[in-house]
Amino acid sequence: MTAQELDGWLGGVRTQRMPLLFLGHGSPMNAIEDNHFTREFRKYGQALPKPRAILCISAHWETRGTLFTAMQQPRTIHDFGGFPERLYKVQYPAPGLPELAATGAALTQGDIDTEHWGLDHGAWSVLIHLYPNADVPVVQMSLDRARTPSEHVALAKQLSDLRYRGVLIVGSGNMVHNLGRVAWNRLNEVGYAYDWAAEARELLMDRIRDGRLDELAKYSTLGSAVQQAIPTPEHYLPLLYTLALRDSDEDLDVFNDYALAGSLTMTSVAMGL
Ligand code: ZN
Repeated sequence: MTAQELDGWLGGVRTQRMPLLFLGHGSPMNAIEDNHFTREFRKYGQALPKPRAILCISAHWETRGTLFTAMQQPRTIHDFGGFPERLYKVQYPAPGLPELAATGAALTQGDIDTEHWGLDHGAWSVLIHLYPNADVPVVQMSLDRARTPSEHVALAKQLSDLRYRGVLIVGSGNMVHNLGRVAWNRLNEVGYAYDWAAEARELLMDRIRDGRLDELAKYSTLGSAVQQAIPTPEHYLPLLYTLALRDSDEDLDVFNDYALAGSLTMTSVAMGL
């Protein structure tokens, strides 16, 4: 898709550059809990300009190739098990925006999904705090399993023009995320980190603050602590997407930067706000 074609998108109106967000989503229960993390989400939601649409890259949608949800009305997917009934009753009825899905697919040589997916909890459990009225259209973008982290970074950069068309790009994952090592008996203990998780957080945060994106993409070479913190890439990649889209003049604002349950961090980042 050429810049000219993109200029015709949504009436050809350019907007101010929209901020970028990476949100550490943690437990699906954050969708319905009132805690430090969700209060921060709400605070940022109030500080954000109201976008035309949200493009959400969630850890919980991995596919072959890159897909964009293109339903007029994406369903709320309860993609988890073993939680209280009231969590399964939550709906996030934000409309879709098929035109944004088609544009995203054109920019990334991806494809649209008209029937399979919807909004998974990586998306709705945080968006419900940012935009509680569900009145901003949401399109989800999948993570292509076949790509290396550096290839995901390159792909992210292809989305940058959307920021000038009123699209808020939100990554949802967790920077440190090793579910197999969760201290289940200390689940709600904010600040509790295993040594390797604390070390990984520091290593990664130093590089985030310094803008060392190449090193962050090659996280598997950063040593054993980081390898334990990121045993699989899907919760980390949404962070890489948002960092890859940051321009050099944009401030970086870190919040919710706490460890949890030993092997997770809720670290969240707002850029260009
Ligand atoms: Zn998750």
